[in-house]
Amino acid sequence: MPGTRHVENGPAVVGRFAPTPSGPLHFGSLLAALASWLDVRARNGRWLLRMEDIDPPRCPPGASETILEQLEAFGLYHDGAVSYQHDHDRDYQGALKTLVASGMAYPCSCSRKAWQHFGVYPGWCRQGPLHPERDHAWRLRTDLGGSDICWQDRRLGHQCWSLPELGDVVLKRRDGLWAYQLAVVVDDARQGVTDIVRGADLLDNTPWQIRLQQALGYPTPTYLHLPLVIADNGQKLSKQNRAPALPLQSHAVRPLLHEALTLLGQSPSSTLRHASVDKQLQAAVESWRPHFLLPHDVQQTTLK
Ligand code: GLU
Repeated sequence: MPGTRHVENGPAVVGRFAPTPSGPLHFGSLLAALASWLDVRARNGRWLLRMEDIDPPRCPPGASETILEQLEAFGLYHDGAVSYQHDHDRDYQGALKTLVASGMAYPCSCSRKAWQHFGVYPGWCRQGPLHPERDHAWRLRTDLGGSDICWQDRRLGHQCWSLPELGDVVLKRRDGLWAYQLAVVVDDARQGVTDIVRGADLLDNTPWQIRLQQALGYPTPTYLHLPLVIADNGQKLSKQNRAPALPLQSHAVRPLLHEALTLLGQSPSSTLRHASVDKQLQAAVESWRPHFLLPHDVQQTTLK
């Protein structure tokens, strides 16, 4: 089967790809999916797919199906059923209840406008909502439990971030929707994820997520934050910057997969540029070297 490599029995590795289905995947998302897939397959682990669709207005109908087709076109098959965050309301509610009970989460009725000049929310509602008559969000206390969060990032090395400088992040929004920070932590724990590989745009979210893991008694996975992909115009590739959707036709998919492997520092043989995705992936799994990832951001060159 493409994408397996014999490894001695070790602890089970579980990785995941967790796109927000707010539109089709682009080249930056391909790098995250591919690196995480290779990292797991090279160790005979399980690779899970989770649609982070907690914000329905941002997720147009059909986007999840498009993402599934795109992953399939690139040979990135997942294990088990796809998980959808909209099915896990009760899990998030349970976690919030635990945080409230331990004093780590509090209701906040302040409008963004009231504190915007402070940069981060100054924690005015920590001792009780300032405007109890208003709807409230729920925030995480970052002034309790030690200020620095440190971890060893597998690409970026030792990281230490000051939580109070990041501020009391929202866990549940005032409109009742769950926030990414809480949902991602609950789901990674629920699904037994051990190894997170994702873009460096999420690096500054990791301190909040580790604090939430600590507060909820969950294990902390390993983290590898990938280089960001910079487009020709010098901007980070993202949906907001109108990055083109990944193609589905094999004549376009094959060289793009080759380029993604190249940008991951894996130096795939040039003879594989037009080879089938299975062949390219098989070779990439066999030679996967996460420490060959580049220390800097990378520029996409061949495709517009
Ligand atoms: N859903 C997030 C995104 O699409 C990624 C979450 C994660 O990998 O932690 O940016």
